[in-house]
Amino acid sequence: MKRIFSSHDLISVHHARNLLDAAGIPAVVRNELLSSAMGELPPVECQAELWVVDAGDAARAERILREGRGPQAAQGPGWRCTGCGETLEAQFTQCWRCGATRGAEGVSG
Ligand SMILES: [Zn+2]
Repeated sequence: MKRIFSSHDLISVHHARNLLDAAGIPAVVRNELLSSAMGELPPVECQAELWVVDAGDAARAERILREGRGPQAAQGPGWRCTGCGETLEAQFTQCWRCGATRGAEGVSG
């Protein structure tokens, strides 16, 4: 087990967990209940935490969160790159793998 992310914002912690889930990385949310008790405890004590079950997944998980987390996250269904077939989160406008721009369907060549 390794903690890779913590936040007072339970929604963003769950979103992060969903990203890892989509990537096939087992992860659990801790302190979920504590975070709802904010005001009763010092803030640092009641952050919700995201832990990867296998510490060996931590580096990959952190990369996924860096790329996938943010205010624009989860704006809709993902999309598939027409250049390389990579599946991307909705907030990305460009494929991280091959650099193709979203919405370039039919513009091949
Ligand atoms: Zn691509």
